[in-house]
Amino acid sequence: MNPYQFLRHTPGSNCGQCGYPACLAFAAAVTKAGVRADLCPHLQREGLPPELLGGADNAAPDALDRSSEERELALAAHLRGKMQGLNFLSLAPRLGADCSAEEPDMLRFTFLGRPVRLGTAGVFINGEPPDDPRDQILLYNYAASGGGRQPEGTWIGMESLPNSISKVRTLAVYCEERLAERFSGRAGRLTELCAALCATPAEQSVDVAFLVPALPRVPLLLLFWEAEPEDSFAAKVKILFDHHVLDFLDLESLVFAAERMADRLLELD
Ligand code: SF4
Repeated sequence: MNPYQFLRHTPGSNCGQCGYPACLAFAAAVTKAGVRADLCPHLQREGLPPELLGGADNAAPDALDRSSEERELALAAHLRGKMQGLNFLSLAPRLGADCSAEEPDMLRFTFLGRPVRLGTAGVFINGEPPDDPRDQILLYNYAASGGGRQPEGTWIGMESLPNSISKVRTLAVYCEERLAERFSGRAGRLTELCAALCATPAEQSVDVAFLVPALPRVPLLLLFWEAEPEDSFAAKVKILFDHHVLDFLDLESLVFAAERMADRLLELD
């Protein structure tokens, strides 16, 4: 298979998530240098020779983990490179960040209540580089979005965002179900911990509702319904997003932001 034949199996969106700046560069790397085709998460696998997919379906779990980590590290490096061309001074107000003339290559903002410094030199949360490349990817994606329409408080579920079918379950497993299970019967404790994330109470007809500022322009609306054992009703959590949220984060980073919110609440508990 040549690069152009392979290219037809990618969406051609040049999103960079494979760690290459363009689909054609990735196609060449796969067909000429043996790079694994499944580093592209948007690949149409039908019709591709199994050897190009690197035997992913039969690969050992640690091999898959490595592949995933390599992809994340490559993407973080790619996004960091994209910071070079940005004008942070003009970008800062669109992202709800701070940037000063004394330090024009650095944005400052908060991520789930923790201070972030992001610039061409890297990303730092609480003054430290994050261990998990997914944090870097999320934060660089936020900066690379360039900003967009401001949140308006029109809330929608993940299922209402475009192309989100596969993410609905991910959000449930990594965020909503974990929180519902941990705080079942403990609505008061959840209320206490939301305050630690600089969240503000929201007016919704549920047992607990908080507006959690994941990022300055990416609020998450956390809704919690307490368990009602007499009606066999388990505790439930639902996360809603502003209808313009994709102006600031892609779906994958958005789900990860919600996962990180759950991580923070569980850590604090
Ligand atoms: S991840 Fe896929 S769609 Fe995105 S640039 Fe790479 S090949 Fe193209």
